Amino acid sequence: MSFTVGVARCADYVRENVSRAVAEAVERAGGMPENALGEALVKANLLSPAEPERAVTTHPEVVRAVAAEIRRRFGARVHIADNPGFIFTDTADLFKKTKIEEAAALDGVSCGLLADRGFREVGSGAFKALASARISARYLDAAYCVNAPKLKTHLETEISGCLKNIFGTADTETRKKCHNSRSRKRLADAIADIYSVKPPQFHVMDAIESMEGDGPSYGIPRKTGFVLAGANALAVDWVAATIMEYGNPMDIPLLAAAACRGMGPASRGEISLVGAEWEELPARGFKKSSGYVRALPVFLRGIGYKLVSVAPRLDPDKCVKCGICARVCPVGAILPERDANGGFPSVERHKCVRCLCCHEMCPTGAMTAHKNLLARLIEKSRM
Ligand code: SF4
Ligand code: SF4
Repeated sequence: MSFTVGVARCADYVRENVSRAVAEAVERAGGMPENALGEALVKANLLSPAEPERAVTTHPEVVRAVAAEIRRRFGARVHIADNPGFIFTDTADLFKKTKIEEAAALDGVSCGLLADRGFREVGSGAFKALASARISARYLDAAYCVNAPKLKTHLETEISGCLKNIFGTADTETRKKCHNSRSRKRLADAIADIYSVKPPQFHVMDAIESMEGDGPSYGIPRKTGFVLAGANALAVDWVAATIMEYGNPMDIPLLAAAACRGMGPASRGEISLVGAEWEELPARGFKKSSGYVRALPVFLRGIGYKLVSVAPRLDPDKCVKCGICARVCPVGAILPERDANGGFPSVERHKCVRCLCCHEMCPTGAMTAHKNLLARLIEKSRM
C-alpha cells in the first residue's frame, strides 16, 4: 500500500504564500476527501496562549488557509478548535494571543474550545495502554475533521505532529494518566490508543517555522519551509521526522507504536512523496529533543533513559508563584506553596516521573528542563 504526502515549499507566513502552499500541498496529496456534510472541524494545535512567533501553536495563517481551502472546496462551515491545558481558562486571551480569532474572522468560520460540549468515556478492545479515555464530545461528534498540527520537538515523545496533536482531544485526567505511564513506549501506546478512536479525514501540517530543541513549549523556532498534507497521519509524521533529520523515523517510539498497529507506513518505500525529493527535506543541524539518549548504543538505551537525566528545576527569578505546575503534575510531586520554600513550588524528587508537564505548562519558563552532567556531555559530543 502506498501513502501519498503532498509537500509545498513556503518561506514565510505572508498570507498569499501560505494560501498557495496549503492549496498546493493538499492538491499534491490527492485532495481532501469529499465532504457533503456542510460542516467541518479543524483541530489546530493551540497548546497555550502564545504569540505565533514562538512557534508553540499552529500559525494562524496556516489555520486560516486550511479553513479557506475547506470553504473553497466544499462550501462547508468550519469550526476551529482545540483543548489547551486546562489551566488556560481565558479563552478570549487564547484566541487573541494565538491570533486564531483572525482566522475565524473568515465568512463561515468560527472558533472555540474542544471542551465546550464536555467529554465522553471511550473504551476499545484494541487499546494497548489505556482501559478507556475521555475524549471531547465535539471531536467525537464531528463527522469531518482536518488535523492542523504544528511541527515541534517534544521532550517526551520527540515529535509533536499529526499523531500527537490528536492526543489533545483527550481530557486533562486522561492526559495526566498517560504522562504518568513511566515508560516512553507506554506513553506512545497511549497516544496511539487515543488516535485510534477517531482518525481525522485529512492532515495539513504547519512546518514553515517549526520548533527545535526542548519543545513543545520552550524550544527554539526554526525555519524549515514546508507545508505537508496527506490522508495518513503516520505518513505525514514520517516526512516531518525526515525534516527533523531522523535517519529512521521508526526510532521515534510514537511512530513505531503507530506502525506496529498498521496505522500507516512502516518504511519509507510505502510513502509516495509529491512536490519534493527526500534529500531536499532535512533541516541541517536540526536540534532534536532527548538526542543524547538516542546517541547511546541501542543496548544501552534502556539504562540510558534512567542515567541520562532531564528533570524539572525551578528558576525562582522567573517564577510568579501561580501554582500551575502543581496542578498539572500527574503524580502530585509538586508542593505549591511551602512556607519553607518562600512560597515557591518545590518538586518531591522521589515522586517525580520526569514527564516534564510542569515545564511544558509553566507560563513564564520558570520550570526548566535541567539536564545532568552525563546528559550534557552526550549532547555536546553530538554537536
Ligand atoms: S514554576 Fe511556573 S508554573 Fe510553577 S508556580 Fe512558578 S511560574 Fe507558576
Ligand atoms: S514534577 Fe514535573 S516532571 Fe515531575 S512528574 Fe510532576 S509534572 Fe512531571
